[in-house]
Amino acid sequence: MILYPTLEADLTCPSRYVRARLRKEPTLAPFASTVLGKEVHERIASSLRQGVVVSQADDPLRDVTGGGGRPVHRKTFQLPRRVMLSEGEKLDSLLDRAQKGLARFEADYRPGLQGEAHRVEEFLAWNLELEGELVRFMGKLDLLLSQGEDQEVWDWKTGNPKNSREQLRLYLFLVYGATGNPPRLARAVGLESGEEVVEVWSEEVIPWGYAWLQRMRKSLSAALTNPRALNPGPVCRYCPYAHACPASAAPRRYLLDTRTGEVTEVAVESLASE
Ligand code: SF4
Repeated sequence: MILYPTLEADLTCPSRYVRARLRKEPTLAPFASTVLGKEVHERIASSLRQGVVVSQADDPLRDVTGGGGRPVHRKTFQLPRRVMLSEGEKLDSLLDRAQKGLARFEADYRPGLQGEAHRVEEFLAWNLELEGELVRFMGKLDLLLSQGEDQEVWDWKTGNPKNSREQLRLYLFLVYGATGNPPRLARAVGLESGEEVVEVWSEEVIPWGYAWLQRMRKSLSAALTNPRALNPGPVCRYCPYAHACPASAAPRRYLLDTRTGEVTEVAVESLASE
């Protein structure tokens, strides 16, 4: 059984979890916001690994000189041919937000992180036994900074970080379990707003974390016994199957052809007719 820090959110709707995570059923197109969020994370990771200025541009390929006189390759954001937009979203403003997030990272964070020993986008896994059942608790950390024995977890957020407290505590618990060395703190950084949320390590994280794992183990078992259960609500907004779901509470959604600019509203029967 595999548990991970964002599992509780994924299990909000069992049907969505099973289709997306277990069966990996195809979708019409990825959401533009998801694609750009991933690219922002990848550019930050690459900047940290190579010690160079983060690439921010969304204009034609060109080389400029970055920090330390090293060349930096600036390139356009990599969008697939078709992306999904949720009602009210515009690609231009999503691109603008992605660039602003990268600019904030470059101005406020990356220069101060240089010279530290760090692990970037690294998977940590902790195998343990809960009431006789083997469980693997795992997660990917955006950044684990080390200064001697001191460790800090950093988590970049392209959205608002205010609801990140539980996730940060789970990162603290995961590093503690996987390495035996609990971090001093975990920090979520809102790249757009500059807001930060910080959770500091304390011994209380340990029983709290075990209780969370037990709860998730039961929730996951319950979801697997009823994999068609639907639970409509805010989670539907970015559900890839909403247009083929009779219970969907998602707002309208649109397919954008990124080459021609053509926009098509996604009809409810789109998947059924494929
Ligand atoms: S649209 Fe909503 S209720 Fe339907 S599968 Fe997706 S998340 Fe569940």
